[in-house]
Amino acid sequence: MRIRTLAPMLAFIACHATVTETKKTSVAAPPPLEETGIDVSIIDEKTPACEDFYRHACGLWLDKTPIPADKPAWSRGFSVIADRNELLLKDILEKTAAGKSLSSDPYQDKIGSYYAACMDEAGVEAHGAAELAMELKRVDAIKALDGLTVEIAREHKSLDNAFFSFGSQQDFKDATQVIGVLDQAGLGLPDRDYYLKDTAKYKELRTAYEAHVKNMLVLAGEKPEAAATHAKTVMTLERALAEASMSLVDRRDPKKVYHRIDLAGAQKTAPEIAWKKYLTELGFAKVTAINVAVPDFFSALGKLLKKTPIADLRTYLRWHVVHGAAGALPKAFVDETFDFYGKKLKGLLEQRPRWKRCVGAVDHSLGEAVGRVFVSTTFGAEGKNQTLSMIRSIEAAMRSNLTTLGWMDEPTKKMANEKLESIANKIGYPDKWRNYDTLEVSRTSYLQNFLRANRFETDRELAKIGQPLDRTEWQMSPPTVNAYYDPSMNEMVFPAGILQPPFYNRTARGSVNFGGVGMVMGHELTHGFDDEGRQFDAKGNLHDWWSPAVNKEFDQRAACVVQQFDGYVAVDDQHISGKLTLGENIADLGGIKLSHAAFVAAAAPKPQGHFTDEQLFYLGYAQTWCMSRRDEYARLLVATDPHSPAKFRVNGPLSNLPEFAAAFSCKPGDKMVRKDACTVW
Ligand SMILES: [Zn+2]
Repeated sequence: MRIRTLAPMLAFIACHATVTETKKTSVAAPPPLEETGIDVSIIDEKTPACEDFYRHACGLWLDKTPIPADKPAWSRGFSVIADRNELLLKDILEKTAAGKSLSSDPYQDKIGSYYAACMDEAGVEAHGAAELAMELKRVDAIKALDGLTVEIAREHKSLDNAFFSFGSQQDFKDATQVIGVLDQAGLGLPDRDYYLKDTAKYKELRTAYEAHVKNMLVLAGEKPEAAATHAKTVMTLERALAEASMSLVDRRDPKKVYHRIDLAGAQKTAPEIAWKKYLTELGFAKVTAINVAVPDFFSALGKLLKKTPIADLRTYLRWHVVHGAAGALPKAFVDETFDFYGKKLKGLLEQRPRWKRCVGAVDHSLGEAVGRVFVSTTFGAEGKNQTLSMIRSIEAAMRSNLTTLGWMDEPTKKMANEKLESIANKIGYPDKWRNYDTLEVSRTSYLQNFLRANRFETDRELAKIGQPLDRTEWQMSPPTVNAYYDPSMNEMVFPAGILQPPFYNRTARGSVNFGGVGMVMGHELTHGFDDEGRQFDAKGNLHDWWSPAVNKEFDQRAACVVQQFDGYVAVDDQHISGKLTLGENIADLGGIKLSHAAFVAAAAPKPQGHFTDEQLFYLGYAQTWCMSRRDEYARLLVATDPHSPAKFRVNGPLSNLPEFAAAFSCKPGDKMVRKDACTVW
């Protein structure tokens, strides 16, 4: 998946189901809004707008809103919507699990059974360990590299990306083709830095991770002493994989992760791996068209497999079986996993209650089956039309911006315009729903359901290779509170989840909606033209359509943004990585500018109250981003997330904009007025 999202995916995983209107339900309503659509009661009048606008707009919310004990972060926009939807989903799933028919949805039995099996704690306690032992037995039977390859394929299909990953993607150079993609993977910690950097925090996490691996192996039946040795083996192997892995910053450059050397090239790069056997075991023996994203990783992996004793390789696979299955295993496994991944990595205080985890599990495995139950009754043509007309006005703002852009020459402008005119929009939910007919779901085993659902999804993903591109597909479930731009498809996607208050509120003033969801639309549109997206053309092909002089102009402007964000401290003394977050920061800056231009063009009559429409626009923007995070989670995100923290997503772009300064009468020298303002689009 190479999509550019609005917000980090990991923050909202498993709690991202929603509908667009809630008046038909009895669950908690959104917080009360002033007539304008902004919440005046959370504005911190003591902090001037020109000093720290984020604090000004969100201050009292930040002061009075605690982060729930089972959440790594809490936001006024994303989290509140997601929480409301989680309750809605629960209601639906409890009813379907009890056999009640809710609509004409063909998969309600499946979602009901999946939920019921997940909620059956006694059943999981009774059978889980024995079922895990069956999986581990296969690993223990491996005698040589051939057998190892077969087991890797099985794990890839149903559990975990042990050693590496295999999936499908549009060919960067020919977006009409779907090819296979082999990529680096196989780490239990979030990124290579966690193994390689020698800061106190990383060392502490490595020690905790090794203890966690040991504890899990003990739960899986190993003696403590053997498990301790095995945990060290896992660390050694994963460290070697980390050393061979490409950094997240380098991975942002599409040219660095595109090597269409096909199966023959993979065989040459890593002859130690029995590739034919691997593909045959996966069930895709005929696949030959493959992007080997990071060839250096695979040549190092081949050598690593060859020189490592087979017993150690089995140990690594055992760990990844236990780790991959953990969520569907008995309580002791779940608690131990929470202790490391929840408490230590994200700073959580409490585990989510079981029903929340089960709602998340259904959404993960049967996202479009459960999603269609909601949207069929809640997101009609009206919502789609209103959203589309807003998108059109943002696109028109981009069009007119292009004509006035001083640093771009005419030929490049023409190509940029062509790309703009080709962008497709998807709104609300897919026109064609996913088919789950052949996915078998039982009420008796959560682990088996989980394994089958993963196999089903792997098959679906790999079956796309060599087939005509399906333009109707969505990469987020419709209730997700997020949005994305896909450079290969050249499309923007706005799931129903984000099209509701405070992002979009039918009764709010236009200025506030432009600041909210309008900025989201401008953000996704700008992704098509950020440092990464601009490398793809109107048809979604990786192709340099920029004249050299204009390239240079763009790079200078991007460098300004890198420098600006490098200067911000995210947590402790850790600065934001200007390079890792460049694409998102360009999208934020362009997004708010385009949305502002569209709002000005809409020319609404003056509001009656205390604020001007200009002020409401910026307050509407800032208030969708009010967010608190735990320090541990902030550390995880600053290392791995391409998005900047909310505070800088507001203050960063706005301090570059003279329009913002004018709206609040900010003067040169004020903190919200940067001397060397950056401007890209
Ligand atoms: Zn984004």
